Amino acid sequence: MEETKLARVNPFALTYETFKNEMVVHLGLDRYASAEIYSQLAENGDLDASALKRLPPRPGIASQLRATLLIPKPEFAEVKRADGVVKFTLRLEDGHEVESVVLPMLSHYTLCVSSQVGCKRGCLFCTTAKMGFVRDLTSEEIVLQLFAARHVLGYPIRNIVFMGMGEPLDNFSSVQEAISIMTDQRGFHIGLRRITVSTVGSEEGIEKLAASPVSSVNLAVSINGATDEIRSRLMPVNRKTPLKQLVRVLKNYPFARKGSLFAEYIVIQGVNDSPQDADALMETLAGLSVCFNLIGFNAGPGAPFPSTPQKAVDRFRDLMVERGAYVRIRASKGRDLVAGCGQLGKAHGKAVVV
Ligand code: SF4
Repeated sequence: MEETKLARVNPFALTYETFKNEMVVHLGLDRYASAEIYSQLAENGDLDASALKRLPPRPGIASQLRATLLIPKPEFAEVKRADGVVKFTLRLEDGHEVESVVLPMLSHYTLCVSSQVGCKRGCLFCTTAKMGFVRDLTSEEIVLQLFAARHVLGYPIRNIVFMGMGEPLDNFSSVQEAISIMTDQRGFHIGLRRITVSTVGSEEGIEKLAASPVSSVNLAVSINGATDEIRSRLMPVNRKTPLKQLVRVLKNYPFARKGSLFAEYIVIQGVNDSPQDADALMETLAGLSVCFNLIGFNAGPGAPFPSTPQKAVDRFRDLMVERGAYVRIRASKGRDLVAGCGQLGKAHGKAVVV
């Protein structure tokens, strides 16, 4: 009888529970041994001798594990560094490429990950939109970006932001699965509250996230326009989910704590930065507990607007503060790498909020 060959197991693409079941099927390992291997792999990125020593003695276990486990070998198409920011491009098995960025913060590193190749949302200010939609990433490909940053490039990533290429809530099941893997306490162990999902703001996407087990991630919504007229011009999603409807959905969102909505606002000089815009923004989002993250538009090649000078961003911040808003200005880190806002991931147009 022909022997059925089991596919090798990539532990970095699985939650612990799934990994444990795979270990039973492949090697007959018990819960203790599976947990030990899983957490050691997440810590070291590979099997090492000390992990093997902690397993109950069993002849041939090391070679059996090596034959069973598939440790990822990310293919880097490019790695660029400037001012502490690292932008890297991974080539996927089908030849498509996705970009990720490691951002150094005061006390930790944040990784900005992509969730799709391209994007179908067509935001006017975004260069990823110009690629059109190519395909969704699998959960494995999303987690591969964390593996590459942590275990190949060596950055102890503490926070994750879904602000790279693509609209994460358009690829909901893979994003949810990737978050479950990234937050598994026996694995990568990144706290749910250290993950931010940044969305274009469709009613359907936000409702899906609200109803999911990962709803207590931080939610960032790209607002960018305080009236339907301006927002629809910048973001086609607004024609389907206009501001009133968006606010209604956000008011029903089960935020883990007060003030956990980040409203991302790309300040585009002469388009959305007048005192009237500040008034309308306050009025539109009234009743929500919001932290506004402002970032100046960073023009990439062929951009429809020039870059916004920092003083225009500061001026708009002052207008919002005068009106009682809680506002943070985010530096567009990585401009030198073409990895700043509006350019990330060939290139994404959301503010990088960390
Ligand atoms: S800003 Fe985000 S949602 Fe809009 S087109 Fe770009 S990648 Fe897609």
